[in-house]
Amino acid sequence: MDYQAYYGWVYQMSHHWVYQHTFILWLAIKAKLCTQDKLARWFPNKSYTCSLCGKGNDSHDHLFFNCDFACEVWAKVCDIAKIEFQKTTWVVTVENLSKKNNGRNIWAVIRKISVAAAVYHIWKERNNRLFNNCKRSTEEVFGALCEELRGKMTTITVKQSANVCEAEELWNVKFQRKNV
Ligand SMILES: [Zn+2]
Repeated sequence: MDYQAYYGWVYQMSHHWVYQHTFILWLAIKAKLCTQDKLARWFPNKSYTCSLCGKGNDSHDHLFFNCDFACEVWAKVCDIAKIEFQKTTWVVTVENLSKKNNGRNIWAVIRKISVAAAVYHIWKERNNRLFNNCKRSTEEVFGALCEELRGKMTTITVKQSANVCEAEELWNVKFQRKNV
């Protein structure tokens, strides 16, 4: 993992992050989320099936985003955040995103907050299924994710541009305008 590129990516425009999303993203990047594959060492005979798809093993690489359920949510997020969708490993996904030109373009901000939101909401859904016996569809998870990001976006101040108008239309949101 190229941490230098990643740190640059995180710290630039860091005030746009949604705090609780960033925290989970950070743990995911360090592979420190408490996934069940870690328990396999102590309890090798138990099953550690992913609660989202019921097929793969509950691990970082599976959840982000090789799991069928997670991948479906991620594909929707890529679509609305203008991220090039690729089926690859979690490490490569983060490396690709952090190497991408970050600039001050509104889409650079949207890409960042969207990947953090995707990780956060997939992780939350996984926990809800495991511990609260509560199940939502990919559409519901994606809807909640967009709703939360829209709330964040209304606090972002921007200069008028074609990118801004495009983002507003796609996300159905209104950014604040800078007084020039
Ligand atoms: Zn799965």
